[in-house]
Amino acid sequence: MTEYKLELKDVTKVFESGRDKKTTAISNINMKIGDHRFVSIIGPSGCGKSTLFNIISGLMQTGTGEIRVNGKSVNGMAGTVGYMLQKDLLLPWRNIVDNVILGMELKGVSKKEAKEAAIPLLEKYGLGGFEQSYPPQLSGGMRQRAALLRTILYDRDIILLDEPFGALDAQTRSVMQEWLLDLWGDFQKTILFITHDIDEAIYLSDEVYIMSARPGEIKEHMSLVGNNQIGRIRTLYPY
Ligand code: ADP
Repeated sequence: MTEYKLELKDVTKVFESGRDKKTTAISNINMKIGDHRFVSIIGPSGCGKSTLFNIISGLMQTGTGEIRVNGKSVNGMAGTVGYMLQKDLLLPWRNIVDNVILGMELKGVSKKEAKEAAIPLLEKYGLGGFEQSYPPQLSGGMRQRAALLRTILYDRDIILLDEPFGALDAQTRSVMQEWLLDLWGDFQKTILFITHDIDEAIYLSDEVYIMSARPGEIKEHMSLVGNNQIGRIRTLYPY
């Protein structure tokens, strides 16, 4: 049996709010994702993309279905993947290097060792000279770099990125896309990437999952390697 890096089997989540109100956020989501893949998920607002990430990361309990990492069930387990939320969520009272090492510290790595690992990376990935700066002193693009490095240094094989470049202007966004591809090439992670931007998905990804409007289901899964599927994606996702 093939063992995937990440596998979702019939994952469904229904929210119950109030006595009679039920919202099916996602329904029967199936995904099979191999090692070192860059996979984008596109879908209209409210189709359950963030719910899906919250479930994969263990922040939210699975309704029904199963999440497997390296063939092992991880339903409801936190800490098996790195997860970067839409907002950078850097702590304003910690300088950049202290923000970047946060995940390592939470894992029990000593501050000294964590800094020794982080400082060369800050230099290499465009934050050299800003180690002692605080988040409000940095541009949006630089804050995203710091937040992404923090996620990478948490050192999990699978990284979930929820629209990390959504708030950036077009030029910064295109610089950040290149930057992310460099980082991905160097660290060999499996990346799941939520975006609204078809061009971004096509530029960055090996594979794209297209979700339907609520309840979120997988409408189509396509591999982009060696294919030019842009016209087909535009037809399937006219938003
Ligand atoms: P997306 O990230 O694609 O915009 P979400 O995952 O945030 O979508 O939400 C999917 C659906 O589930 C939406 O209709 C949203 O209102 C609903 N939803 C999300 N979280 C909750 C919650 N905690 N309680 C009730 N409904 C929720």
